Amino acid sequence: MSKKTGSASGSKNQTGKASSDGMGLSELLKGNKEQKTLKDLFQDGLKDMLSAEKQLVEALPKVAEAAHNEDLQNAVEHHLKQTEKHVQRLEKIMTYLKVESGSKECEAMKGLIKEADEIIKNFPEGPVRDSALIIGAQKVEHYEIASYGSLCELADVLGMSKIHDTLGRTLDEEEQTDQDLSDLAQDINDEALESEGESHEDYNSSGSGSKGKKGYGSSL
Ligand code: FE
Ligand code: FE
Repeated sequence: MSKKTGSASGSKNQTGKASSDGMGLSELLKGNKEQKTLKDLFQDGLKDMLSAEKQLVEALPKVAEAAHNEDLQNAVEHHLKQTEKHVQRLEKIMTYLKVESGSKECEAMKGLIKEADEIIKNFPEGPVRDSALIIGAQKVEHYEIASYGSLCELADVLGMSKIHDTLGRTLDEEEQTDQDLSDLAQDINDEALESEGESHEDYNSSGSGSKGKKGYGSSL
């Protein structure tokens, strides 16, 4: 086990190499011994989501621009307006609870947005990129749903009923967005497949045959 040597930034792991977040596993497990409460956890979650929503406000215009399908563009623009509202709700809650937003950055959202950037870079404009953008957007929604779901639970257990209701409204909207994206995906995936013309293979048909008739599903 390595000994903790100084502050987290610039610290080294067992091999002497600084890990990507500047903290080795043993240090991570030792962690901060300061007693934390559910309220701390709740406030930490609020900060995380404020960062996540703000990152999204920055990123979504680029996603809308990268989308080819008009319905998808409209859905992303609608999501942007909703996301701005989510930022405002969180700021209101945090002001009420006197929670400083600080410098916390949501690493998960940073990663999800990075993936979306890679999609935009690797897939040229068109239906296949649109399908990929929807997948990326749904990953974001699922992160938000998990986060707001747990924040609602914590607000409930901490007896913050009004805050619970406000976060619950956001959670409902995230779930609706996810559903809308699933509906949109059906059309856009069909469009993507059609754009590939005869070159695709039908994995649903049984038996083998020429292109469009292969039955890979039957052997699974
Ligand atoms: Fe949101
Ligand atoms: Fe959302």
